[in-house]
Amino acid sequence: MQRWNGWGDDSIHHKLPRKGRDLLAEWIGNGHPRADHPMEALLAREPESRLPQHPLISVDSRLRLVHAHGQSLPDWVRMRGGMLDRFPDGVAKPTTRQDVDALLQFAAARKIVLIPYGGGTSVVGHLAVPETEKPVLSLSFERLNRLIDIDTASLLATFEAGIRGPDLEAHLNQKGFTLGHYPQSFEYSTLGGWVATRSSGQQSGHYGSIEQLFAGGELLTSRGPLQLPPYPASGAGPDLRHLVLGSEGRLGVLTKVVVRISPRPDKDDIYAVFFPSWDNSRQAVQALAASGTRFSMVRLSNPLETTTNLALAGHERQIAWLNRYLNLRGISQPDACMCLVGFTGSRKQVASAKSEAFAIFRPFKGVAVGTAIGKVWKQNRFRSAYLRNTLWDLGYAVDTLETAVTWPNVTPAIAAIERSLREALNPWDERVHVFTHLSHVYPTGSSIYSTFVFRLAQTPAETLERWRALKQAGSRAVVKAGGTITHQHGIGTDHQPYLAAEKGALGIAALQHLFSYFDPDRRMNPGKLVPDIDEAKDKGQESGD
Ligand SMILES: Cc1cc2nc3c(=O)[nH]c(=O)nc-3n(C[C@H](O)[C@H](O)[C@H](O)COP(=O)(O)OP(=O)(O)OC[C@H]3O[C@@H](n4cnc5c(N)ncnc54)[C@H](O)[C@@H]3O)c2cc1C
Repeated sequence: MQRWNGWGDDSIHHKLPRKGRDLLAEWIGNGHPRADHPMEALLAREPESRLPQHPLISVDSRLRLVHAHGQSLPDWVRMRGGMLDRFPDGVAKPTTRQDVDALLQFAAARKIVLIPYGGGTSVVGHLAVPETEKPVLSLSFERLNRLIDIDTASLLATFEAGIRGPDLEAHLNQKGFTLGHYPQSFEYSTLGGWVATRSSGQQSGHYGSIEQLFAGGELLTSRGPLQLPPYPASGAGPDLRHLVLGSEGRLGVLTKVVVRISPRPDKDDIYAVFFPSWDNSRQAVQALAASGTRFSMVRLSNPLETTTNLALAGHERQIAWLNRYLNLRGISQPDACMCLVGFTGSRKQVASAKSEAFAIFRPFKGVAVGTAIGKVWKQNRFRSAYLRNTLWDLGYAVDTLETAVTWPNVTPAIAAIERSLREALNPWDERVHVFTHLSHVYPTGSSIYSTFVFRLAQTPAETLERWRALKQAGSRAVVKAGGTITHQHGIGTDHQPYLAAEKGALGIAALQHLFSYFDPDRRMNPGKLVPDIDEAKDKGQESGD
């Protein structure tokens, strides 16, 4: 059964090896486990539902609680610390497009605010219930999860928007195809959510991010349906798909999505390559990204992430052997950097891409150690998210911060982001364990993905305060370093204060006017992505007028 106040299935536990625990204690001190707030106490906080009755709407308390949040760290603190105080007034789980249409019409007639809900895996406050006089309905796509069509000639597949990763892949795999979109939240997130948040998958180097995979579909809006036919290409002005990508439920709801699919590859190998230093490894992956070599993924860990990952992996004997071998090759901790590099395609394509990549790595003293580490990584790639539960139970909170910058900025940006996070809890005299990897590399630059671990405070309110200090420090460092405020997690509420630095005043105003055109009554996930246009006027924030 899915955990109501944590990540994933409650029968799955990700154990932290003893060595990992000891290191964490050494790095930031012993954790302070805190008792979880019971569900019953949270249910008791739910106010009466304000929704008028409708056969498709449930006001069940547990359902309202489960749809009141996503999976961000503040969501966790509020849930587990009993601080959740806003709940949708009801939840609808339509099973057909007609149901969705009927619910939109009902919502329009009764002035109901709608929050489209995919898999609920948002980590930036997309699903937060706004403070409003109007009733709020969570519109869940859980039951709109069918395959509609596979067009094998055109390599296109059409699904209902609520389909989750594993079901979508199962349909395609049965016919010999794949979408190849693997965010770490794959098991729970949905196709509609991927499009609405501009999601990126772990093997986007080969298959592309959702921007490349999203071919078309249907968006139901307050002004009627917006059809997006899956043209192979079009020169007809701006591409309307790009309005929908990353729109975070503000334009309308995606009912069906057409995606570009690929034949299943013969081979999908991931190699581990170690480098003697950060500079060597960064230059090596930059050279690879610029070379045109076809790789499916690059995940380059900085020295501290390399040490942390090896410590958390368990398998102490194998790791000791590996370290001995690397020492002989002139690579040793704490400077060593591990890079996972993946190749996908036919046997011939994989063999040739691999030898091209390894030839590029050689001058940078890269030592490839085979596919064993890559296989373990692949087996566990959706399991490592469960470590959040384990760490929380041990009294630690873990969160991530991601951006993308051009190549000359990569190393300085990492240094600035890590420094800002490490120092953010100085006022509390608390240490923060921070480590980073490059998770997607492009010819022009790279994404940067930093993880930070800190201790839970005495009270949930103080843990939240610590998180705010960290988020603010990290986000400011990102903006100052010239990075995007998010490479893949979206904006929601948590990144909103930093969006203007990226889009500019005119850009924000253009988005506000776009949303207000499609949603004149401001009922579609208001307050997310950009401030609502009137709200902004009230605060004197609206720009460009
Ligand atoms: C452990 C973990 C790992 C993650 N790893 C990744 C990763 O590797 N890559 C990545 O990109 N993201 C990742 N994420 C973030 C998250 O999974 C993505 O943002 C994902 O795309 C959200 O999909 P969802 O179906 O869960 O959407 P939800 O969280 O339910 O909703 C997200 C937003 O999309 C809107 N929305 C959802 N469905 C629709 C629809 N049908 N029509 C209109 N709007 C809709 C919602 O209103 C909301 O604004 C991770 C999150 C977690 C918790």
